[in-house]
Amino acid sequence: MTRWLAEYAWLPEHAEPTPDVLIEAEGGRITAVTPLVGGGAPAVGVEVLRDAVRLPGLTLPGLANAHSHAFHRALRGRTHGGRGDFWTWRDVMYTVAARLDPDSYLALARAAYAEMALAGITCVGEFHYLHHGPDGTPYADPNVMSAALVEAAAHAGIRITLLDTAYLTATVAGDPLVGPQRRFGDGDALRWAERVSGFAPDDDHARVGAAIHSVRAVPAEQLATVAGWADRQGRPLHVHLSEQPAENDACRAVHGRTPTRLLADHGVLGRHTTAVHATHPTSADVTLLGDSRTGVCLCPTTERDLADGIGPARRMAEAGSPLSLGSDSHAVVDLFEEARAVELDERLRTRKRGHFTAAELVTAATAAGHAALGWGDAGQLAVGMRADLVTVRLDSARTAGVPPVGAFFAAGAADVTHVVVDGRTIVADGRHLTVDVPTELAHAIQAVTAP
Ligand SMILES: [Zn+2]
Repeated sequence: MTRWLAEYAWLPEHAEPTPDVLIEAEGGRITAVTPLVGGGAPAVGVEVLRDAVRLPGLTLPGLANAHSHAFHRALRGRTHGGRGDFWTWRDVMYTVAARLDPDSYLALARAAYAEMALAGITCVGEFHYLHHGPDGTPYADPNVMSAALVEAAAHAGIRITLLDTAYLTATVAGDPLVGPQRRFGDGDALRWAERVSGFAPDDDHARVGAAIHSVRAVPAEQLATVAGWADRQGRPLHVHLSEQPAENDACRAVHGRTPTRLLADHGVLGRHTTAVHATHPTSADVTLLGDSRTGVCLCPTTERDLADGIGPARRMAEAGSPLSLGSDSHAVVDLFEEARAVELDERLRTRKRGHFTAAELVTAATAAGHAALGWGDAGQLAVGMRADLVTVRLDSARTAGVPPVGAFFAAGAADVTHVVVDGRTIVADGRHLTVDVPTELAHAIQAVTAP
């Protein structure tokens, strides 16, 4: 039995944090959540409180980073030299992709995931398409890159959903993969499914989901094969959707319909599906996504970095799509920044304030993100849930004087002091207990970017 005493804790269905909450866990699960003040608060023995780890500040459920490409962490600060857009950024990304092997990928992902742990992320959704050797030849173990990512997350102390990505073509028109893209491809969706089915990591730490890279990368007639695999296995299915207007234009030109409509027509949408970005949907697309309860993962700091645009977050939420958050390219790893950007970007677009409540932003960063990654038993401070705790200090230069309910509009990743995953402490006093994060990041990035 482990006990924590949170100065404030954000409990489910609460509009704001609750003071003085005793949280107890056993076997990695929360067994009791007890507010100690207010009407009806039970008397708790002195010895129980003496036993409890004090968590000063605001304690949240674990944050879920629902969209990650771990190796993009090596690009941070390296793609801003000139003008350019998403497509020129992608060329730089490919040069790093070309240099990774299972060992260097493990080192880079371990450091990137440990940075996430420091930021309060307890589970990551890794949208993984770097499957094979540089010329496209499978490794002796065709899932060795997936295994490296799962091992990296284990070292960093966080859970992972490995969203194994089908990436078969270079364009909507079906052009073959060339150059660095060749290592992404499995040939066709059946061979993708065969390979993925051969990968079965420890289910308590790592789960496997499916992904369709985009309508550019999976031919229309093969979409249902990937969706069907996810459906039969009961796995989450993610897909990049309408990140760029050019994708919409190409899809209309080839298929005579929007990417969202194409996915709907091939059975890809649904409550186990998450559309990543959805920055440029039509009104009809928003309705298709919402009516099917397809989730939407917003990645505002990446969408900002890549000059993608601002998606209609409030309209998609109203239409019925649960919203989750991802740091995607890791230009920034800070889910507080992602969460408030959802609100702040709406303000910029509409020139009005107050689109999302603080509690809605917390849900996007926690329970909705975990649900999108297939962990319905995580992301809430409630009995029976996984014992994931993230404590944010309220006495830093950024957060001093801020009421706890306002923490999501003030705190950053650097204010996270204590992180518990499945009952195990992985970050204490703002330090990762097993990974020297800055040193490992520097070494791992040097190894894949040095001339
Ligand atoms: Zn992405």
